[in-house]
Amino acid sequence: MSIAGVAASGDLTKICPLVGRRTNPKYETEPTRPVVVKDVQFGGGRAVIIGGPCSVESVEQTLELAHAVKACGADMLRGGAYKPRTSPHDFRGLGLEGLEILREASLQTGLPIVTEVMDPRLVEQVGEYADMLQIGSRNMQNYPLLTEVGKFGKPVLLKRGMAASLCEWLGAAEYIAIEGNLDIVLCERGIKAYPSGEYSRFILDLNVIPALQKETFLPVIVDPSHATGVASMVEPASRSALESGCHGLIIEIASDKVGVARPRCDAEQAISPTALSKIVEFARNHAGQRMESKACAV
Ligand code: PEP
Ligand code: MN
Repeated sequence: MSIAGVAASGDLTKICPLVGRRTNPKYETEPTRPVVVKDVQFGGGRAVIIGGPCSVESVEQTLELAHAVKACGADMLRGGAYKPRTSPHDFRGLGLEGLEILREASLQTGLPIVTEVMDPRLVEQVGEYADMLQIGSRNMQNYPLLTEVGKFGKPVLLKRGMAASLCEWLGAAEYIAIEGNLDIVLCERGIKAYPSGEYSRFILDLNVIPALQKETFLPVIVDPSHATGVASMVEPASRSALESGCHGLIIEIASDKVGVARPRCDAEQAISPTALSKIVEFARNHAGQRMESKACAV
């Protein structure tokens, strides 16, 4: 890398020639290569907002939230059927049943689905239901998994490893690209740093957005939910991320209806559908000009 004042961490022209800007002359002048997921375009000049539960827990919960996401004017539905949990004793998702629920939610709302795949053996199964395959932070450097999703060919949301450098992250993207799949969207989701856990779950690294845009043509979005881990921090983090030039957001929501149980996973960071609609409104009406000026053709 050659960012002035920042120590070199690897030669990106050798580590990731397929996704690097310097090694792809076309993208020296064009900021982003858009990634298309059904009727949604990442990096096409309009911020993509993805909303939904942390985990798919039931038909009722998922349909309620999917309709709320749609009503907010957001673009895609998220939700984990296979969940990476710190303890194996925690709720690890509904698996195939969760994927079926996501499919129903997508049919009812028209929203494309992004959901996580953790196991190379399950890429075919999850890929049959997902419009976009999510690689979670814990698996960013699971190279056999990256190879399988690369071969599968559907668009990939590649979350940043929680302690990964920019160089390692783009190296991971290169594993997908080398299989012939360039439809990769990067997702900054907070990193471990000295104060992590003191007042927020992770540290949202907004500096990485312009740094990535200098080094790659892949679109980049931000996950303010996992980056902060605190519901009240999600809106300011979302605004800041959009102002920093990211191409979208992925946000966890939960029902605020009376009598509805708290989510079984990441309840502290879930915002209400009303709070999500405020963020969508900001993205559409205040952050739009900046995004448009960064748009380019494929
Ligand atoms: C998620 O988005 O559901 C998730 C588990 O996030 P991360 O991999 O960033 O921790
Ligand atoms: Mn979560």
